[in-house]
Amino acid sequence: MPDELLARLRRFHDHTFPGVQDRFQDLVRDGQHPTILFIGCSDSRLVPYLLTGTGPGELFIVRNVGAFVPPYDIGASRGQLAGFHGTTAAIEYAILNLKVAHIIVCGHSHCGGVRALYEGVDPDTAPNLAAWLDLGREAVLPVQLTDEALRRTEQRAVVLQLERLMDYPMVRRQVDAGQLALHGWHYVIEDGEVHVFDVHQGAFVPASSSEHSGTGPFLPFAGDDISPVDAW
Ligand SMILES: [Zn+2]
Repeated sequence: MPDELLARLRRFHDHTFPGVQDRFQDLVRDGQHPTILFIGCSDSRLVPYLLTGTGPGELFIVRNVGAFVPPYDIGASRGQLAGFHGTTAAIEYAILNLKVAHIIVCGHSHCGGVRALYEGVDPDTAPNLAAWLDLGREAVLPVQLTDEALRRTEQRAVVLQLERLMDYPMVRRQVDAGQLALHGWHYVIEDGEVHVFDVHQGAFVPASSSEHSGTGPFLPFAGDDISPVDAW
């Protein structure tokens, strides 16, 4: 049986890499300096480089089921790690070491992770997945699952993660200092369009009609006294 993955690896090395070799060697010599932390769902239809027109060295990416952000574990700051937090570690590294200027939280349409919040997961066969989905639980609406409810929930989940990000002391500090911007995105796969969260409208706005790439709920705008929660 032909090994298709091996064929792809060889194709990359022999045909693709020579065209980008200089770029990668620069990134090795100078190190990586990405300015964007991209927190996205693991869904295979979400392709961050395509969406953002970025290439090697430009995105620091962490992906997980649902594009969720775990709560900041206060125990971690005291050296009392309660568990393994891959997403949390990536956030800390991106802010403290890479000093990124943007964090994008990117959910999407037809999200299986968000759908599972309604349909349930067997905690006996998938205990880790069942526990992980709790990170989106607050976004669930008290309605029957419909296409519209799913989309609303996917969007609410993005805002929930943005709010949780602000509980990370290093995130809040950088946002307050005007050094870091948060962006909430909902990518509609079938339209090829990202809807960006606009705190002033309390809604997701298609990128084609938005004036910005997402203000995030907490950027300090002068005279802005709208509570993110109320707005949403
Ligand atoms: Zn998803």
